[in-house]
This record gives sequence, C-alpha cells and structure tokens, in this order.
Amino acid sequence: MHERPARSPSTLDHPPPTNVLVVGVGGQGVLLVSKVLARLCQANGFTVKQSEVHGMAKRGGVVFSHVRFGAKVWSPTIPAGEADVLLALEWAEGIRWLPHLKPHDGTFISDTRRLVPPFACRDRRPGAPSGYVTDTAAEILSRVDTGYALDATGMAGELGNPRTANTVLLGVLSTVLDFPEEQWLDTLTDLVPAKSQAINRDAFLKGRAWAVNPTIPPPEPARSEAEKSQSVTLEITAAWCKSCDICVKMCPERCLRLDHQQIVELKEPDACTGCRICEMLCPDFAIAVHIT
Ligand code: SF4
Ligand code: SF4
Repeated sequence: MHERPARSPSTLDHPPPTNVLVVGVGGQGVLLVSKVLARLCQANGFTVKQSEVHGMAKRGGVVFSHVRFGAKVWSPTIPAGEADVLLALEWAEGIRWLPHLKPHDGTFISDTRRLVPPFACRDRRPGAPSGYVTDTAAEILSRVDTGYALDATGMAGELGNPRTANTVLLGVLSTVLDFPEEQWLDTLTDLVPAKSQAINRDAFLKGRAWAVNPTIPPPEPARSEAEKSQSVTLEITAAWCKSCDICVKMCPERCLRLDHQQIVELKEPDACTGCRICEMLCPDFAIAVHIT
C-alpha cells in the first residue's frame, strides 16, 4: 500500500478540477457520500458539478456519482483515466471502475465487503463458485498509486448499523481531501436524519481514524468443513427489507419467501444450509447468517 499527503484545497484554485467518482450498488448510500462532498466543496467556494445514475436502487443495481470541483468545471462527467479518487462502496464495483482512476497518482478507496450480483450465481448448488471477482485487496492495491481497502461494512456493524459503511468510507475520503474535520462532520450531520446523526458521526470518525494507520485485510477464508456441520440461523431486519425478492429468487434451497407484508421470512429453516448467498445478495443488509 502506498500513501501520500492529503490534497489541499488551496492547490485547487486553478484548473484542472479535482475528480471524485463514487460507485456502489443500490441501497448502499452512494448519493449521500457525493452530496456531502459536493456541499462541502461549494461551501469552500469551489465550482462543483455532480452527476449520478441511480436506477434499480431497490434491486441492487449499479449506482455511481461523479463529483468534480475546482475554480472552473466545464463537464459534469469524469473521463476514463481522470478520476483523482475512486471511492467504491462495493468491491467488484471498485474493480470494475478502476480504468477511470488516474493511472499514476489516483487514490482508490474501497469496502472489501462483497455484494454478489444475481447474475454471478448461475450455479446455485451449495458450495458452488459464484463467478464473482477473485482479486484480493493486496492484488488491487498493488495496481494503484494510493489505495485503501477496508471492511467498512464490518466496521459499521461494530458500531451497530452496517448501513453506515458509506460514512466509514467518507471518513477515509476525508483524509485524502484536506477539508477541516469539523466541516465534514457538520455537512454530514446536516444531510442525515436526526435519529442517525450520532452513529454517522461515529462511523465517519472510525473511518478517518483507520486511515491514519491503514492495514490490508486478509483474503476471505473459505468455509471450513467444521463450519458446514454447525447450526444456522438467519437474522432478518424487517425494517431494512425493501421486498425486492432477490434473496427469495436466488436461495439455492428455495427456503425463503415474502410474507403478507412483503417482508422476507425463512419458510423452511431446516432446509437452510447457511450458504450465505442471501446475505451477500441483499443490497440492504437485511439478512445476517449466523453459524454457531
Ligand atoms: S443461507 Fe440464505 S440463501 Fe443460503 S440456503 Fe439459507 S436462506 Fe437460502
Ligand atoms: S431481505 Fe431479500 S427481499 Fe428483502 S431487501 Fe434483502 S434481498 Fe430484498
């Protein structure tokens, strides 16, 4: 992993603009990250252009947002090879967008948590390979000038809400773009609901603190034979389920269904193998698989 000093806004008074590309899948909070950044840049007197694609948010579809800021910004979209920062809320999306990063001095920031798209699960037998990208964090970081790969979803989960992984990553971004910490926090606080302001501040500070001494996460361990023989329970957070039906359709054992309120439920607990496909596919973190 390489590191370099933070980019100072004072060096950005002249063209070319600074380009930040935020990518992920529906439900992860790509737009919150880009809104915080855009508003912060505006407050500091920069011209800002922001463009976004956020279709299929209910179904885990691709979402991305371009943020460009500087003294003058002519186009809202970042050409390939011109992103100063690529911030990915999902590992495969980060890898897919790598060609947009500046090859010699771009900064890559990504959650290592994997949300496997349905098309990557053609073979749904238990234990079958998913077809998802296999590049490890170490491999990807060796290909970029400056890189940060972290289990942001896990870190957010430790704080009590894995859906604040986007804010953990925002905290990492804050160490790359050198605006004052209080401005980041104030802008973030303005843009999130009052009930989630405290956890978002904690998530931001957790990501920011991690970036001071970043580490490279090890590859995900394969599921062991011992683990396969243990008992499985599903924790379903009904309030986060958007009824998209992905998990129901993709469960290899067909043991999930939507109840009368269109919330997922485990209809056949004995059939569940604990393969974690539903957990990986759910774009809203509504399912957690526990193996004990
Ligand atoms: S872990 Fe999820 S996808 Fe796998 S069998 Fe159980 S309910 Fe189905
Ligand atoms: S739990 Fe299933 S139905 Fe609910 S949002 Fe997640 S993938 Fe969709």
